[in-house]
Amino acid sequence: MTTSTSFGSCIFCRIANGDLATEFVAVSEHAVAFRDLAPQAPTHVLVVPRRHVASLHDIVPEDGVLVADTLQLAVEVARREGVIAGGFRVLTNDGPDAGQTVDHLHFHVLGGRRLHEPLG
Ligand code: 5GP
Ligand code: ZN
Repeated sequence: MTTSTSFGSCIFCRIANGDLATEFVAVSEHAVAFRDLAPQAPTHVLVVPRRHVASLHDIVPEDGVLVADTLQLAVEVARREGVIAGGFRVLTNDGPDAGQTVDHLHFHVLGGRRLHEPLG
C-alpha cells in the first residue's frame, strides 16, 4: 500500500501541497486539478490525489473514497472547461508500456476537439 502523505521528491506531491504555486483549475477534499505542462488538446488537465499513490494498480479497497472523489473532480473539471456536451476523455497511464512518466497517480482530462488518437 503506497500511502505516504507526501513524497518530498515527487513533483505531483509538491504541486498538490502548493509548494510550486501551481494554479489549480479545481480542488476537492482529496484531489487537485491543474493544467498539463505540455497540453495535447485545448483542454488538458491533470487530476491527482493529494495523497501519494504511485499508480492505479497501487489502489487498495480503503482508497475507494479517494478514487471516487478524484474521478468526480475530473468530471467537475470537464464541466468547468465546457467540454461535457462535446465529449471528453479521462485516462491514466500505468507503467512503462502505457507511457507513465510521473509516478504519482494522475488522470488526464482531455477535450475541446475531436480526440482521434488510437487508444492502443
Ligand atoms: P504520464 O505520461 O505519466 O501519463 O503523464 C505525465 C504528464 O505530466 C505529462 O503529460 C506531462 O506533460 C505532465 N507533467 C510533467 N511534469 C509536470 C509539471 O511539473 N507540471 C505540470 N503541470 N505537468 C507536468
Ligand atoms: Zn506524489
